[in-house]
Amino acid sequence: MCDASVLPERGPSQSEHCSSANGCALCGGRFGLIRYYSWRTALCSTKCVDRFRTRRERDRLWLFRAQFA
Ligand SMILES: [Zn+2]
Repeated sequence: MCDASVLPERGPSQSEHCSSANGCALCGGRFGLIRYYSWRTALCSTKCVDRFRTRRERDRLWLFRAQFA
């Protein structure tokens, strides 16, 4: 009755939240022998690093434009 202090369901939801730790942050694929890092984000290949950087750069440009619009 007074179990409010016990956190319910810590299992699946937590692992889902931290899925990027177990796979590529971009495509969600599993890592091979080598991991690539960009902006402290783990990625599976240089392809994903490239795409991630492009996306990130675009986001920054959007923010930049939004600020001065
Ligand atoms: Zn990937």
